Amino acid sequence: MQIYITGKFFDKENAKISVFDHGFLFGDGIFEGMRSYNGKVFRLREHMIRLWNSAKALMIDIPMTIEEMESATYETLKINNIQDGYIRLIVTRGIGTLGLDAHLCKEPQVVIIADHLALYPKEFYETGLDIVTASTVRTNPAMVSPQIKSLNYLNNILAKIEGHLAGCVEVLMLNTKGEVAECSGDNIFVVSNGKLHTPPTEAGILEGITRQTVIEIAGEMGIPVREVPMTRYDIFAADECFLTGSAAELIPVVKLDGRPIGNGKPGTMTMKLLDRFHEETRK
Ligand code: PMP
Repeated sequence: MQIYITGKFFDKENAKISVFDHGFLFGDGIFEGMRSYNGKVFRLREHMIRLWNSAKALMIDIPMTIEEMESATYETLKINNIQDGYIRLIVTRGIGTLGLDAHLCKEPQVVIIADHLALYPKEFYETGLDIVTASTVRTNPAMVSPQIKSLNYLNNILAKIEGHLAGCVEVLMLNTKGEVAECSGDNIFVVSNGKLHTPPTEAGILEGITRQTVIEIAGEMGIPVREVPMTRYDIFAADECFLTGSAAELIPVVKLDGRPIGNGKPGTMTMKLLDRFHEETRK
C-alpha cells in the first residue's frame, strides 16, 4: 500500500507523521471519508468543499488547491490499483510545540490513504440494525460545531463504546436539548406516512454528503422530505428508519432501544432509496 503524505508517496511502514504534529497531540486537524465506485470518487467536489470549510473554521491553511487535492486523490487510487474502495483524506495542523499555539504550526500535512472497503456485513442490510441511544450527548454546536469534520472524534467514540457494550454496531446520539442528532458516524432518517424526516443542521449534526444525496434523490422520486427536529418518540413511532454515510451508504434500522420500528424489518421505501442510491453511484 502506498500512502500520500504532502506531495510524496510512502510504503505503509514508512508513512509517518511527527509526534509533535498537533493532529497527534491535540486532534487538531480535519478529515474526509470518501468512496470510489468503478474508479470514480463519489461526490468528490462536495467532500472537498466540506474539507475546505472545516479548514476555514479551524484556520488551517491547506497547502494545495482543491484541484490539486482531487488529482492527488486519484493518483493515490491509481498507484494502489483501487477501483472500488474507501479513501481517507486527512489534513493536520502540522508540527508545533507541546503548547496549544496553532500559529506556531507552519506546515499543515496532507495524508491520503486509499484502501479496500470494510463495509458492514451484507446481512445487516438484509436484517437491519438494532441500535440503542447513547448517554453521551452530541457536542453542542455552541462549543465546537459538529459541522466541522475534525480529527477530534472523542464525542462519537465515547458513544460508540456505549453501543458496543450494548452489542450494537451503531448508536443514536441526542443533542443537549434531548432531540435526535445523528449516530456516531452516520446521519439518521425516518419514514412516516410516506414522508422522509431527518434532523436539521441546527440539531447539531455533521452535514453528511450521503444525507444530501438522499434528500436529492428522494426529491427526484417525488418523496416529500422535511428537515425537522425529532425526538426518540418520532423514531419509535416511525414506519421505517435508516442511516446514511459514505461507507455505509443507506442501512436500515429495525430496532431502537428495544422498540421494533414499523414491522421490525427493513422498510420498502428504505430499500427503494438504497436501489436508487446505487444507481447514482454507478452514474
Ligand atoms: N455523521 C458523522 C458524525 C460522521 O462521521 C459521518 C461520516 N462518517 C456522517 C454523519 C455521514 O457523512 P457522509 O455521508 O458525508 O459520509
